[in-house]
Amino acid sequence: MDFKKYITDVPNFPKEGVVFKDITTLLNDPEAFKAVIDEMSQFVKEQGATAIVAPEARGFVFASAIAYVTGTKFVLVRKPGKLPRKTNEVEYTLEYGTSKLQMQQGDLTPNDKVVIVDDILATGGTIDAIIELIDKEHAEIVGIEFLADITELHDKELEKKYKVKSLINY
Ligand code: 5GP
Repeated sequence: MDFKKYITDVPNFPKEGVVFKDITTLLNDPEAFKAVIDEMSQFVKEQGATAIVAPEARGFVFASAIAYVTGTKFVLVRKPGKLPRKTNEVEYTLEYGTSKLQMQQGDLTPNDKVVIVDDILATGGTIDAIIELIDKEHAEIVGIEFLADITELHDKELEKKYKVKSLINY
């Protein structure tokens, strides 16, 4: 399936000069969304993952469905102040400023084999922060997957170190 046609380019969002990839039009199409979940789930199975880690909010939309299909545990990465138990925290730079992400201590164990899931890879700041959070728990990262990768916005270091899959490449 040509997933690209289900993504809508929105110029000047969230600020002037940025073309935002709107994935909600894909979510609005049940067949396209199902095909995406099936393909992303296949990758998780191939890597033999025991856990999926994803950041709020759009990462959750995909990760939750993939965790259900693959029978893996789902660990949340969130902005500060959202997770109730003791967390690890990483500060990072993203396309539109700086931010912090947290993951609860003990949600992953050193035995876990993790696939990280998110909707879009842009500058790579978010994914680097998630990798740091997983490393703090000494779990193994067996793969990283995105619905879409905006190739010109990031360097190639991620692909060199990890098995990375994107269903759409820009
Ligand atoms: P990065 O940290 O790689 O610059 O940005 C990736 C994160 O920001 C992802 O969590 C993603 O949800 C969000 N993001 C950045 N640009 C876009 C975009 O054009 N469309 C969507 N849907 N999300 C984006």
